[in-house]
Amino acid sequence: MELARYIRDIPDWPKAGILFRDITPLLANPQALRAAVDAMCAPYKDAGIAHVAAVEARGFIFGTAVAARLNAGFVPIRKKGKLPFETESITYDLEYGTDTLEIHRDAVPAGAKVLMVDDLLATGGTMKAACDLIEKVQGHIVGITCLIELADLQGRPRLAPHTIHTVISY
Ligand code: IMP
Repeated sequence: MELARYIRDIPDWPKAGILFRDITPLLANPQALRAAVDAMCAPYKDAGIAHVAAVEARGFIFGTAVAARLNAGFVPIRKKGKLPFETESITYDLEYGTDTLEIHRDAVPAGAKVLMVDDLLATGGTMKAACDLIEKVQGHIVGITCLIELADLQGRPRLAPHTIHTVISY
């Protein structure tokens, strides 16, 4: 199945000069959604993944689907102030300014095998922060899986030495 057919390109969104890759047509198509989740899981099927972690909001869509498919649990990583229990946090640089992500302190047992999920890997800044948070709570990152990769933005080197799997690359 040619999954890239279900990604819609939106020029100049959210601002001039950005070509936004819109995943909503893929989400809305039953076969494409199933195939996308299967493809994201494929290299990790027998990896003994105990937990899948993802950042809100689009990461949650694929994160929970991948977790259920791998018989793993799901761990939410959220923007500051959203999680109710004790948290660990990390502040990371954006193009303009900074953002803070949080995770529950007891999100995973020490050494638990964790798979990191997002819809799209661009500069890797979001994923790097999410990986650092999982390591702060002593999870063991087995790999990263994303539906889309914007290869020009060099996310991969930033995430070394983690194993990265992506399904559609631009
Ligand atoms: P990064 O931190 O630069 O790698 O950006 C990745 C994050 O931004 C992901 O969580 C994506 O959801 C979001 N993102 C960036 N560009 C796009 C896009 O073109 N389509 C959908 N999401 C995007």
